Amino acid sequence: MAKPADTRTAGRKPVAKATRSAAETEKIRAALAARRDELRAEYDQTLSEITELQRGRLTDSAGDDQADTGTKTLEREQEISLANSIRERITQVERALERLDEGGYGWCERCADPIPVERLAAFPAATLCVKCKQLEERR
Ligand SMILES: [Zn+2]
Repeated sequence: MAKPADTRTAGRKPVAKATRSAAETEKIRAALAARRDELRAEYDQTLSEITELQRGRLTDSAGDDQADTGTKTLEREQEISLANSIRERITQVERALERLDEGGYGWCERCADPIPVERLAAFPAATLCVKCKQLEERR
């Protein structure tokens, strides 16, 4: 019984890992390191804003009514959740750098093709190449 070609396996290549040049790996490392520094600066900035908000709460809360207090608490919570998400991204980038050293980073999980340097620089947590990502989204 002839079945139509399975579209999921038709395009699959034998998993022979392509290699990346040392220069390319360095480019990725530089991009990741730059991203990490950027995120760290952003994180510090957010932390000092939280401190500021907290200080503001302590010093000028005397004349506050319930609504002011509520707004400040909300602002602070938003800052904290922002700080947490930045820290999460820093962790992702740091993990990516470790995996890069081990040679396990920057390969598409689906087709094992190298993920372009530009894509990794923009999305350090990317685990699929653009082509596979689009297929994924279309499903
Ligand atoms: Zn792929």
